[in-house]
Amino acid sequence: MSRWEDNVRKVVPYVPGEQPKCTDIIKLNTNENPYGPSPKVMEKTIELEKLRLYPDDKATLLVEAIADYHNVKPSQVFVGVGSDDVIAMAFMTFFNSDKEILFPDITYSFYDVWAELFRIPYKRIAVDDNFRIKREDYYCENGGIIFPNPNAPTGIVESLDFVEDIVKNNTDSCVIVDEAYIDFGGESALSLVDKYDNLLVVRTFSKSRSMAGIRIGYAIGCEKLIKFMNDVKFSYNSYTMNMPSIILGAESIADEEYFRSTVNKVIETREYFVEEIAKLGFTCLPSAANFVFMTHESLQAKEIFEKAKENKIYVRYFNKPRIDNYLRVTIGTKEQMDTFIEFLKSLV
Ligand SMILES: *Cc1c(COP(=O)(O)O)cnc(C)c1O
Repeated sequence: MSRWEDNVRKVVPYVPGEQPKCTDIIKLNTNENPYGPSPKVMEKTIELEKLRLYPDDKATLLVEAIADYHNVKPSQVFVGVGSDDVIAMAFMTFFNSDKEILFPDITYSFYDVWAELFRIPYKRIAVDDNFRIKREDYYCENGGIIFPNPNAPTGIVESLDFVEDIVKNNTDSCVIVDEAYIDFGGESALSLVDKYDNLLVVRTFSKSRSMAGIRIGYAIGCEKLIKFMNDVKFSYNSYTMNMPSIILGAESIADEEYFRSTVNKVIETREYFVEEIAKLGFTCLPSAANFVFMTHESLQAKEIFEKAKENKIYVRYFNKPRIDNYLRVTIGTKEQMDTFIEFLKSLV
């Protein structure tokens, strides 16, 4: 009998939210932005004959645009194929001790998948009864720390003080703050990267910049951290960033006005939605993201999820301990949310 299977790296993969083929649905299940990329991105012409050439391995145009935007040096910016790629690279680069890395029990469900993939020991730390991260729980020996701020799928944001406390109580390990949703609320930890050489802040173009399809994410930290990440990346795949994404990513950064206006629309719609569904007996955790985590006083989340789907409205349901009576609902346009509210009214 052949034994090659004994040598396979066996993993249980992450399962992303459904991307249905049909287009006549209201899609509120993967935290995409309903407004689309900036007109500057849409109008940009790409010289496709240049696809003959390898792209700029350093993605200079994009890296400089991001560095300029955040007022840091280009040598403090690492870019990748979505923040998923950036975080995976950071795990590979920084989480190499025998000690457990720490992250919350209720959080982005990719973290434990990467830990398993890279054989990194890890410990999930329970959030409190209000789904808040308890900072003191992270003041112990560890091989690294990662948490999203705002957290997902709760949407709860913690203060800059809170983040700084975790970073400065862990100067012997790398602390990664995943800021996928920070543009929708809360204060970024970017202001701390020059003060702490163990802090890595990760961002994405997928949510606030409405470009999930192009796959751009980035990390900002001190030059030393970024150098270590680039050394790993250039030992693995030099050409992660393709030519169109380098160019179109830079265009998105150039249109601050569009960015602000669409982010503000999402925030306004979120506040409107939260108020409307409260009238129907739903409560949401306080959200600083482009989604809400909602539960009903009597209706079961799983049933709402299934019935919504029958009605061509897709939301996210996690059949997991502690959160199996919640729905994560992405904030779409006001019209989409009104349709969803009407549907919820019909159930209540
Ligand atoms: C969406 C998301 C990401 C990944 O986004 P990319 O599309 O890979 O940039 C990372 N972390 C959290 C918490 C997210 O919600």
